[in-house]
Amino acid sequence: MASKDKTTSHRIDTDIVTVGREPGEYFGFVNPPVYRGSTVLYPDLAAFEQRKARYPYGRTGSPTTDSLEAAMTHLEGGAGTVLTSSGLAAIAIALQSQVKSGDHVLVTDSCYAPTRRFCANMLTRFGVETEYYDPRIGGAISDLIRDNTAVVFLESPGSQTFEVQDIPAIADAARDRGVVTMIDNTWATPLFLKALDLGVDISIHAATKYVGGHSDVMLGTVTANSRTWPSVKETWGFLGECAGPDVVWLGQRGIRTLSARLKHQMAAGIDVARWLEQRPEIAAVLHPALESHPDHALWKRDFSGASSLFSIVLKPGPKEALAAFVDGLDLFGIGASWGGYESLALPFDPRAYRTATTWEADGPAVRLHIGLEDTADLIADLEAGLERWRNAGGSA
Ligand SMILES: *Cc1c(COP(=O)(O)O)cnc(C)c1O
Repeated sequence: MASKDKTTSHRIDTDIVTVGREPGEYFGFVNPPVYRGSTVLYPDLAAFEQRKARYPYGRTGSPTTDSLEAAMTHLEGGAGTVLTSSGLAAIAIALQSQVKSGDHVLVTDSCYAPTRRFCANMLTRFGVETEYYDPRIGGAISDLIRDNTAVVFLESPGSQTFEVQDIPAIADAARDRGVVTMIDNTWATPLFLKALDLGVDISIHAATKYVGGHSDVMLGTVTANSRTWPSVKETWGFLGECAGPDVVWLGQRGIRTLSARLKHQMAAGIDVARWLEQRPEIAAVLHPALESHPDHALWKRDFSGASSLFSIVLKPGPKEALAAFVDGLDLFGIGASWGGYESLALPFDPRAYRTATTWEADGPAVRLHIGLEDTADLIADLEAGLERWRNAGGSA
């Protein structure tokens, strides 16, 4: 792991291209090499006994992992970053780094569903209690903090339902009581939300998504501030967590083009969302960058951009109409994950897992990911889909 944070005076779009690349250290080649390795050789016994090598063993890092760690640490403004084998592993490590038996954690009801599964199964097994809270709770989170509360876990906007949280209010309330905050920051990417600047201690990314950017890697990152970095780094090491060199290399390559991809995807996502908002078949578009979103003001205050993942709620209609809409789409694939160059459409039902809040929509909900295809083609594909929806009995 690298805690190196190259200081630069450049703007973020420049930093994302330069930070964590040291061409002079690899014979001028623009990208770092892929170091595949387990054993690292020491020059003599004394060096081995003192573990003096910069890279003591394959699991603990290489110039390849340094590259992505340094970039994430710099972009997030943290003290250090660890890389993990998936986004879910990053969440698991971040939580484990801050809890012990007998503790209580507060988790937003809008979190990524496998985060709940980790809490319900693993944390419970180790004697840690999880309580879910309304993502829109704001500073009133302090009413839920107990003497044994160790963590407040945030995700903003929420998975699938896109509630935006009052991050500074929650972070302040938690800090006042000595409670660590961590956020699943995947939606915003390291570009659009400076969670640590807003007072959050730990920022987690499924780099599987926009950082990788091409639907071809599983990768996670945990960036911590100086208060939490020692425990994050130590827990990561104890657990033997290690992202493979080829995947990390793809992650460090992906991040170089993140800003350019997201500029396109942000604009395309907003265009498609605005078009959908005008359609008679649509009851609501859940996109924080739209003025109609109930948390638009919070998003505007805290975020510097929007990625291209949002949801729509259709008016009521039968299952066959939903299937006709989704199955016939030409450019939108049906599948989990997102953040790649291709568009996706995935129906979901939060009633299946929510516990602290209720989901009141009458019609079905579909999460959309807008990729790098031509926006007019995507809109035409959705337009044909909404016609199939109506023809199969969906309301308009
Ligand atoms: C996909 C996702 C994850 C998990 O990432 P994986 O790399 O798939 O394990 C975590 N959080 C959010 C918000 C996600 O969408």
